[in-house]
Amino acid sequence: MNAPATLTAVRPDAGTSAPDLVAWPLIRTLIAFDTTSRESNLALIDWVRAYLAAHGVESTLTFDDDRRKANLFATLPAQDGNATAGGIVLSGHTDVVPVDGQPWDTNPFEATLVGGKVHGRGVTDMKSFSATGLACVPELLRRGLKRPVHFALSYDEEIGCLGVRRLIEDVVTRGVTPLGCIVGEPTGMELVVAHKGKQSWRCRVRGHETHSSLTPLGVNAVQIACEIVTYLTTMARAFRDDGGYDDAFDVPYTTVHTGVIRGGTALNIVPRDCSFDFEIRHLPFDDPDELFAEVKAYAERFVPAMRKVAADTHVEFDALSTLPGFDTHGESGIAELGRLCNGADGHGKVSFGTEASLFHAAAIPAIICGPGHIAQAHQPNEWVAVEQLARCEAFMRRLADRVCAS
Ligand SMILES: [Zn+2]
Repeated sequence: MNAPATLTAVRPDAGTSAPDLVAWPLIRTLIAFDTTSRESNLALIDWVRAYLAAHGVESTLTFDDDRRKANLFATLPAQDGNATAGGIVLSGHTDVVPVDGQPWDTNPFEATLVGGKVHGRGVTDMKSFSATGLACVPELLRRGLKRPVHFALSYDEEIGCLGVRRLIEDVVTRGVTPLGCIVGEPTGMELVVAHKGKQSWRCRVRGHETHSSLTPLGVNAVQIACEIVTYLTTMARAFRDDGGYDDAFDVPYTTVHTGVIRGGTALNIVPRDCSFDFEIRHLPFDDPDELFAEVKAYAERFVPAMRKVAADTHVEFDALSTLPGFDTHGESGIAELGRLCNGADGHGKVSFGTEASLFHAAAIPAIICGPGHIAQAHQPNEWVAVEQLARCEAFMRRLADRVCAS
């Protein structure tokens, strides 16, 4: 594909020359599908399914309720016919975040080599990992496998790791019991064995409006909401100052954060409604349900006094999202394999959430290791260094040496 002339014109060094990568054609193909989370991903899934079918590999699809999006799970069986036990899952999400309003210098849906970097939406988060894995299929089949290799491509990761939950359910139901799963989110090809969990909530305060000269006759929803937000801030400071801590994380304690607040209509009206959204990003050993119960108990203290003024007042919470944390402490078989494949001893822990914790929760031990860096994801001109893609290919080659019979 050629980038539109207007786009290449603003970036004269942007070229379409090919880096020296086996996976380059596949990277270009996957990037060319606009799989922004709001769009269907079926064109990409159909392409991958046809690619695998051309190599004699069948895929299982699990769909969303509208059948507009699908996960793909495919198995390359071992030479002895084993297709279920002790395999390695290569996992990637197919969706990407929107490019709306972002100043891109190249066509975001064309992988474009610019110097030593490849630009394009999803080059680091995270189509290149999936493409690199898929590019190994011919070699894995030719050499024969000692244990199964599975591919797990999901939808709707970027909007709360929604799609993969159906894939995992299906895998568990069919009795597939892998040794572990490698999630190729960008880690700079470093081995990551843990990430934080996250719960997010909307708190809705319903007060009672009056003229602002008569405040005792009203219930001020904004002020009550602010007291609860302040309680959250106090919790956040306590985690920062008193822990618990795990220094392997970039932010080594649980964080609590309020990101959105809406309330009131005019200064001379005691506000009836106020709502705010907050999240708890917790270390794997902190219990988010306990933390939320504390917040809720604090909020409920206001209700009796509110009800004395007006019976229809309330404080309510809506769950927005939940993703568990996980920590294998680097001791799982899959972490050991990860170390052998990336040729380094250490491991890290990260604060961002991934599908890894959902595999982990389904008794499929997981690690995270993929090309590029999270700081380069979700940005205009998202990029990944060719050096990172080469490291990803080297990782897959070592993986092939471990799982292939010859
Ligand atoms: Zn991602």
